[in-house]
Amino acid sequence: MICKNCGASSPDGVMFCGNCGTRMDVQEQPAPSPQPAQQQYSNFTPVKTSSDPLREPLSTGSYMLMMLVSFIPIVNLIMLLVWAFSSDTNLNRKNWSRAMLIWWLIGIGLSILLFIAIAALGASLFNSLGELGEFSYDFSY
Ligand SMILES: [Zn+2]
Repeated sequence: MICKNCGASSPDGVMFCGNCGTRMDVQEQPAPSPQPAQQQYSNFTPVKTSSDPLREPLSTGSYMLMMLVSFIPIVNLIMLLVWAFSSDTNLNRKNWSRAMLIWWLIGIGLSILLFIAIAALGASLFNSLGELGEFSYDFSY
């Protein structure tokens, strides 16, 4: 190896010149060439825009149809269950169906409570009528 600085020859492989101490110009491997631009963009996938049909807003007509269906007995329960739990239903329709089902459950719960209250009231009325009957019967005897 020949020193660039002073011209003295040094054994191959040394880092610095033995004469002047200048760092020897070590032959380095060529730096890896930057990857071709094509490769950098090969994995690029376009960002999904709001073309997902499951997330698109429902049209007014769709809402009208949903409400019409919800007024038909039995059919409405089936359709609400299908819409609420199927995975390929539009998100708006699914959430609406779930909300309707929750209101139904609340309504059924309140109806049962009301029925129990009326039944209890009727029973107590019946009992007091019975007592009244016994009383009048005893009185007349
Ligand atoms: Zn030198």
